[in-house]
Amino acid sequence: MVLEAARAHDAGEDRHEPSCAKYFCSEMVGRVADRAVQVYGGMGYMRGVAVERFYRDVRLFRIYEGTSQIQQLAIARDLLR
Ligand SMILES: Cc1cc2nc3c(=O)[nH]c(=O)nc-3n(C[C@H](O)[C@H](O)[C@H](O)COP(=O)(O)OP(=O)(O)OC[C@H]3O[C@@H](n4cnc5c(N)ncnc54)[C@H](O)[C@@H]3O)c2cc1C
Repeated sequence: MVLEAARAHDAGEDRHEPSCAKYFCSEMVGRVADRAVQVYGGMGYMRGVAVERFYRDVRLFRIYEGTSQIQQLAIARDLLR
């Protein structure tokens, strides 16, 4: 998806591709981080453990540079055009 978004951008054709890539990747990494915390059990929740920091850091991806809801709006707007 990222490569397709880059290709479309280079060709001057990008529309909803960047939003799709940003939305999918930020949602997916959130699920992966959540699963990683679960694998670590209680340790995964403790400050100072790398997976806890990862979980906290990736949560931001669904908020900045366009929240997930705003990406959905951008994708829908483009598809309905
Ligand atoms: C650590 C951090 C670093 C940041 N760095 C930067 C930076 O470097 N530069 C910069 O410009 N900004 C930065 N931001 C700001 C960030 O881009 C905004 O927080 C983000 O755009 C969301 O805006 P908001 O916080 O005003 O939330 P709001 O816009 O108030 O949104 C609140 C909730 O409502 C939802 N929502 C809003 N509008 C709609 C709608 N029309 N339909 C459906 N749902 C909607 C949102 O998806 C969200 O879930 C940073 C934020 C953080 C936390």
